[in-house]
Formats: sequence, structure tokens, C-alpha cells
Amino acid sequence: MDFKTFRNSLPSNVKLLAVSKGQPVEKIRALASKGQYDFGESRVQEALPKLSLLQDINEIRWHFIGTLQSNKVREVVKGFDVIHSIDSIKLAKRVSRIAGEEEKNPKVMAQVKFREDPDKFGFDSQKLLNVWSDFIHLPNIEVIGLMTISPIDLDSDQRKILFRECRLFADKLQLKDCSMGMSRDWKEAVEMGATWIRLGSFLFGSR
Ligand SMILES: *Cc1c(COP(=O)(O)O)cnc(C)c1O
Repeated sequence: MDFKTFRNSLPSNVKLLAVSKGQPVEKIRALASKGQYDFGESRVQEALPKLSLLQDINEIRWHFIGTLQSNKVREVVKGFDVIHSIDSIKLAKRVSRIAGEEEKNPKVMAQVKFREDPDKFGFDSQKLLNVWSDFIHLPNIEVIGLMTISPIDLDSDQRKILFRECRLFADKLQLKDCSMGMSRDWKEAVEMGATWIRLGSFLFGSR
């Protein structure tokens, strides 16, 4: 299936994030020429030169989806429109403060870990609830949703259960967006209420 056919086949409430980490700028340009403007990067060091090489395409919105180290916050706030991977209140406060200093207003999502997964960062859902009112009242950021990554060892049904949990938790917090689903499990995520799916290898081929 070609790219446009694929994108048009997604439900209208589902937005496609093309995860361009590990991909050269030429491939990003090629997708942008087909009307894809949301791109995700997970490593600051890799992303910054790409952002500057692609500055001529004004429509591009950059989404940061990787683990965000505190010393990289300023660069991410300056260059990215959306941050999917806020994994602690401390990080949220730092992003808020630096966004104020840089006169930016990034959209952010809280990354939540619904299962134990030593490989992944994220809030425990209960801990997020404990800090929730602090979080949503931080200035200079707009909290739009939750992001989750399903552990690699889950089967399709277990993933659906996890994605359902994420959707229900977002609804409870009155958040519109759920960023969930990657190349391996985007179908399950769409079925369970994702509003953003993050596809890398499915779109670009292997990295
Ligand atoms: C790399 C990455 C993706 C995309 O992974 P694919 O399996 O290539 O689709 C999605 N989300 C996050 C957080 C990633 O780091």
C-alpha cells in the first residue's frame, strides 16, 4: 500500500507520527512532499542537525518521543512542538520553567508505564495521580495526553488490554490524546482509542 492510501485508511481521529530516528533527511523530505508533517525523534544529538537541515519546510512539527535528560530540555523546548515523553514531575517543572524563559508553549504528554518494564521510563499511574494537580497547573506547557509503550513480550490481547487502560486513564484525566502504538502494535492501539500512532520501521523500513 502506498503512503497516502495508508494514511487515508486511518480513522479520522487518529494522527500519524512518522518516527524518523535513524533515517536520513532525504526520507523525511520525501514524506513531507506527500503531506506528512508530524515527525518524531528520540535522540537530541541526532535530531538537532536534522531540524536545522529541514528548517525550510515550515509545516513540519517535531515531536520528541525519547527519554529526555534534564540537560537537553532547553534544546528540545526550542526545537520541538510536542513532547510525548514527560516521565517525572521534576522534568515537567523544568520544561515549564525553560519554556517560559524561551517564550515557548510546548504541548506535552505524560509517559505512563502501565506494566513493569525495566527497559522503559514513565510514571507509575498512581504516582501520576498524586502529582496531577501540580502537573496540569504548570505554566507555559499544555498537557494534552498520555503516552505509553507496550512491553515487547506482550501478546496482541495483552496489548489491547494495556492500551484500553491507557485510554480509560486519559479519559479519567480528561485528556484527549493517547500516543500509543508502534509498528508492531498500531492496529491494536487504534482499536483501543489511540489518537497518535508512532510509526518508524513500518513507514521507512528498518533502521
Ligand atoms: C522508535 C520508536 C517508535 C517507532 O518504532 P517502530 O517500531 O520503528 O515503529 C515509537 N515510539 C518510540 C517511543 C520510539 O522510540
